[in-house]
Amino acid sequence: MSAADWSCRCGKLRLRVEIKGGKRGICYCRDCQAFARHVSGGVTLNAAGGTDLYPTLPERIEIVAGAEHLALLRLSPKGMFRWYAGCCGTPLANGLPDAGFPFASLHVAGFADTSRLPPVTAHLNVGGATGPVAEKPSAAYVWAFPILTNAIWARLRGRHRRTPFFRNGQPVAEPYVLTLEERRAATP
Ligand SMILES: [Zn+2]
Ligand SMILES: [Zn+2]
Repeated sequence: MSAADWSCRCGKLRLRVEIKGGKRGICYCRDCQAFARHVSGGVTLNAAGGTDLYPTLPERIEIVAGAEHLALLRLSPKGMFRWYAGCCGTPLANGLPDAGFPFASLHVAGFADTSRLPPVTAHLNVGGATGPVAEKPSAAYVWAFPILTNAIWARLRGRHRRTPFFRNGQPVAEPYVLTLEERRAATP
């Protein structure tokens, strides 16, 4: 079994992630940029504002240290769950507020060694890029389809309960919703 280590920048929050195929993509949407800019000043973004993401099932994520540093942000009251390391503001994962839909898009910037991860094959929401993107844009449904089918399979087998992000259906950290001013200030 192949695994890779994820760490926040200060090293307090550390995960081990089981790597089983999947896809990796760079998302240029303005929301991913606003998230990274709000928590980390955007240090995890590439030159065109892209976020390198590796979607996986939460059951494949094990917290090795620093679970108490898990922090949760929403850009709006109904926005995605955006997990980060509260100790130093490193973006960790995008997910859904519904514990019954097991899905976490990990922020690849936290992997010191990406050799076990799949290569980047998708370039999403390129219209939100803040600089030139040479690669061809990918269709969002091609990207989302395997995530959806994986999540449904995991759910049918009851494996959505194995997650570091929820306990008894409730998120392990209280979500903080950005104010309009904060969201505006963070959006490129
Ligand atoms: Zn940290
Ligand atoms: Zn995005």
